[in-house]
Amino acid sequence: MRLRNIPRAESVLEACKEVVKDPESLRGDWNQTFKKEQPLHIEIGMGKGQFLLTLAAKNPQINYIGIERYSSVLLRAVEKFQELEAEGKAPANIRFICMDANDLPTVFAPAEVSRIYLNFSDPWPKARHARRRLTSNEFFKLYDQVLTADGTVEFKTDNRPLFDFSVEELETSELFVLDQLSYDLHNDSTMNQGNIMTEYEAKFSSMGNPICKLIAKRR
Ligand code: SAM
Repeated sequence: MRLRNIPRAESVLEACKEVVKDPESLRGDWNQTFKKEQPLHIEIGMGKGQFLLTLAAKNPQINYIGIERYSSVLLRAVEKFQELEAEGKAPANIRFICMDANDLPTVFAPAEVSRIYLNFSDPWPKARHARRRLTSNEFFKLYDQVLTADGTVEFKTDNRPLFDFSVEELETSELFVLDQLSYDLHNDSTMNQGNIMTEYEAKFSSMGNPICKLIAKRR
């Protein structure tokens, strides 16, 4: 994603009460920031937010947190939320955090999260950067520290080398195992049910790229 420094980003995020400013202080107590005590699903690398905002509106029985490490990108998601708010259509069950996924265990307590979404994660194509991929076993160790016993990780991408890497990581993982997989999600009548497209998914599928999806569960 091309990044631009957007001067207003910090002030817009600061003023938005749905952006959690001190997420470590809510560790183990996330339900208190939502109106209802219910399962918590997070998306890491939410980008411009279309996926999670749509999901949150469709599923009021789930609490959602969108995580994005760049304020200039999170700004886009927050502005979308504010447009919905102006129309009286903003979901009450969504919060945003500007943070790096490496810090997940300092923000969420063990078993506090029941689903993690990873959509079109950065591929980090160089082998020496493999540990930075969000589906590397280094990251699965972090997910293990915050997910419930029946928690899942759902990953979509059109990047076949990254997808193959992710499947191979799961084959050697002591913590997670592959539960479901599709190499052509949009033509998979089972896995595509209820699919919500992300910005990247809409762009790459319109170019004819098949979308891969996997769901990993704990061993
Ligand atoms: N999920 C969106 C979609 O499918 O349209 C955006 C995909 S974009 C390629 C990946 C996003 O993940 C970027 O916005 C990037 O800043 C974010 N990201 C990458 N690594 C991250 C990390 N370690 N922690 C938090 N966000 C991260």
